Amino acid sequence: MTTSIQTPPLTVLENIASKLECSIPDEKLAVYLDDQDELKHFKECFHIPKMMDLPKVDKSLVNGDDDCVYFCGNSLGLQPKKVKTYIDEELDKWAKTGVHGHFTGKRPWALGDECIVDLMATIVGAKREEVALMNGLTVNLHLQMLSFYKPTKERHKILLEAKAFPSDHYAVESQILFHGLDVEESMLLVHPREGEETLRTEDILSLIEKEGDSVAVILFCGVQYYTGQLFDIPKITMAGHKKGCFVGFDLAHAVGNVELYLHDWGVDFACWCSYKYLNSGAGGLAGAFIHEKHISTIKPSLVGWWGHEFKTRFCMDNKLKLSPGVDGFRLTNPPILLVCSLHASLELFNQTSMKAIRGKSILLTGYLEYLIKYYFYDHVEQHDNKKQIIKIMTPSHYEDRGCQLSLTFSMPAKDVFEELEKRGVACDLREPNGLRIAPVPLYNTFNDVYRFIQILRDVMACLSKSK
Ligand SMILES: *Cc1c(COP(=O)(O)O)cnc(C)c1O
Repeated sequence: MTTSIQTPPLTVLENIASKLECSIPDEKLAVYLDDQDELKHFKECFHIPKMMDLPKVDKSLVNGDDDCVYFCGNSLGLQPKKVKTYIDEELDKWAKTGVHGHFTGKRPWALGDECIVDLMATIVGAKREEVALMNGLTVNLHLQMLSFYKPTKERHKILLEAKAFPSDHYAVESQILFHGLDVEESMLLVHPREGEETLRTEDILSLIEKEGDSVAVILFCGVQYYTGQLFDIPKITMAGHKKGCFVGFDLAHAVGNVELYLHDWGVDFACWCSYKYLNSGAGGLAGAFIHEKHISTIKPSLVGWWGHEFKTRFCMDNKLKLSPGVDGFRLTNPPILLVCSLHASLELFNQTSMKAIRGKSILLTGYLEYLIKYYFYDHVEQHDNKKQIIKIMTPSHYEDRGCQLSLTFSMPAKDVFEELEKRGVACDLREPNGLRIAPVPLYNTFNDVYRFIQILRDVMACLSKSK
């Protein structure tokens, strides 16, 4: 199974514009696209912050009652309206029945995670038995590495990208040190080519081919948090397996963003957080995947009572009957309030499909990319003889990215960011000089993109005047 084939977004935009007898930047196009959007009703299922409630807004520049332009779902997803209802249900049950809540009601607390694990498994393309909901992302990564990373004299390296997210980098360093090994010798980093921001698949694959015999684990991300690049998970997995490595993925920026088929791709293990595209709220319950092929061979290195089979878990005889597969990795009883918020979000995802979500996403981000190029690329070069004032570092081919575009500017990104915030745009500034813009298909609209571009034009005009 692979991700779906799609008409390139530019072709779709051109066809619609010609049908409407307008140009792509015309507001008519955004109105039409929103009108035709089969996912448009999902926006109503979320709380969208108002401009006036954002802390950095300049009230003289905006209409405070308007919804803000929220392009930060890659950092913290918005709150589904059902979250409060579901949390209230469990608070009421607790108030009314106390300890009896463990085994009664819609979400018996002792089975809280298991009540929603099916909903999670469909989103990552896994079987139910391959997924567990537990802990936070970094904890799950460590637990999985403890089982998959068993360095030997010949095979002791962990391969990851040079600019991995700090938590992943530190996790890998500390795993190496934990085994008494030397980070310099055992941490193998893939760098982009000189002068390039993103990695070429061919370079990743050739490094695996060259060094694979000494690599124990390849740990890659699905979508790169800074550049927005989507890596070729099936190809990296296949190349790693050919050399006898385990291949795992950190899917923090991929889950709920792109289509995933972890089971069919044969990925060995994966972990992800749920507060980004999965909208579970800060510190939400994280996910872990271990492929069914490892069900009887890969065991948890650390065990708690929640890894004991449910049937006899409460017999308390201290004779461990470990649940098979990833279920056995669960250490502790699930935090029911976190289950509630994740439940509210996963339900929405399951009312549609990742295929439909991704279909809208490709068009939404393609539209954003087109407008950025239209206003900030060619024109400026022609008229002003200046360099492009905005550069998109994210790959321009839609199959090599998720919904996020990462921008750099011919001026400090911080200046642009601050002006955007004053005008009611929520996006995210990342060191060293990147602005990350993430239109999220579940609650963002084509009108959001249109409004963002008008605001950005205003900001860029202001900033070039004040120079
Ligand atoms: C967001 C993110 C994390 C965060 O880790 P937590 O354990 O949830 O705090 C880790 N790795 C990557 C790649 C991320 O994008």
